[in-house]
Amino acid sequence: MTTIRDLLDRGRTLSFEFFPPKTHEAQAKLRATVDLLEKADPDFVSVTYGAGGTTRESTRETVLDLLEHRSFPAMPHLTCVGHSYAEIQDLIDDYQAHGVHNMLALAGDPPEDGSPNPGDFRYALELVEALREHSDMSIGVAAFPEVHPRSESRASDRSRLAEKLNAADFGITQFFFDPSDYFCMIDELDSLGCNTPVIPGVIPVINPKSVRRFAGMNGSAVDEALWARLDAADDPDERLEVAVDAAVSQIQTLLDGGAPGVHIYTLNQVDATVRISERIDIR
Ligand code: FAD
Repeated sequence: MTTIRDLLDRGRTLSFEFFPPKTHEAQAKLRATVDLLEKADPDFVSVTYGAGGTTRESTRETVLDLLEHRSFPAMPHLTCVGHSYAEIQDLIDDYQAHGVHNMLALAGDPPEDGSPNPGDFRYALELVEALREHSDMSIGVAAFPEVHPRSESRASDRSRLAEKLNAADFGITQFFFDPSDYFCMIDELDSLGCNTPVIPGVIPVINPKSVRRFAGMNGSAVDEALWARLDAADDPDERLEVAVDAAVSQIQTLLDGGAPGVHIYTLNQVDATVRISERIDIR
């Protein structure tokens, strides 16, 4: 049994995030993508979960398929908002029975229309506690270097995060572009007595328009100088090179500053992630 907790104890980790495919065609494409990304030798991969359970089956199928056919661990994401305790317990039992040893425990976002939360959970910490009670999984949680957009204040966000990380085994961050946001968060956590490893999440900007939109939703500041270089690129190949150079430089700064690994938001694409993995000195 390989847990991410053990991997982090041994050294820096390289991990890739995927979203679950919606169609059989997309499923075949993801398998081909993973075939190519396997050569980059990831320590683990993770698969996102649609808030409220919208990808419950496809996340599960993708994770179990990866676990069966690949040598590295696959970690499902699970969001708790909108689920009942009984549903969460069933999901945990099912994953445990199928040999899943790692889980990224998230709150997820409340319904967009402002309707009351129909489930039993409000915050990710409650899911961490349920996982501790019903499983022996290695548990990861989300961290926001630039502070979660729904936080009451920076101080309250950091103390909630420290409490959640102390209950979990590791964190993975939302994407960000300025390494100092990550180092500042680590210092603030340290001053709260929290030293749980937090893996920085890095997104290669292969689609500037959609990354800008995601950044707006997550409260992440975009690097306008990078966007200007991407806009000035003459063709898609040059734009890819600009995106890869920026991600490599960000990752190298993070690793040099002591980050315990790097988690790449692949957006289910091969080229950028392969090129980045070839150029970073992670091990
Ligand atoms: P929490 O840790 O619960 O925090 C949410 C907010 O509540 C924060 O502002 C926090 O400060 C505050 N808070 C926490 N506890 C309390 C308390 N007791 N009282 C008052 N305030 C409190 N979303 C998906 O839908 N699917 C995914 O697969 C997914 N994967 C993700 C992966 C990563 C690495 C990251 C960083 C995010 C991911 N998300 C995903 C997004 C995430 O679900 C949302 O950002 C969600 O809004 C917050 O989730 P959380 O787990 O950080 O919540």
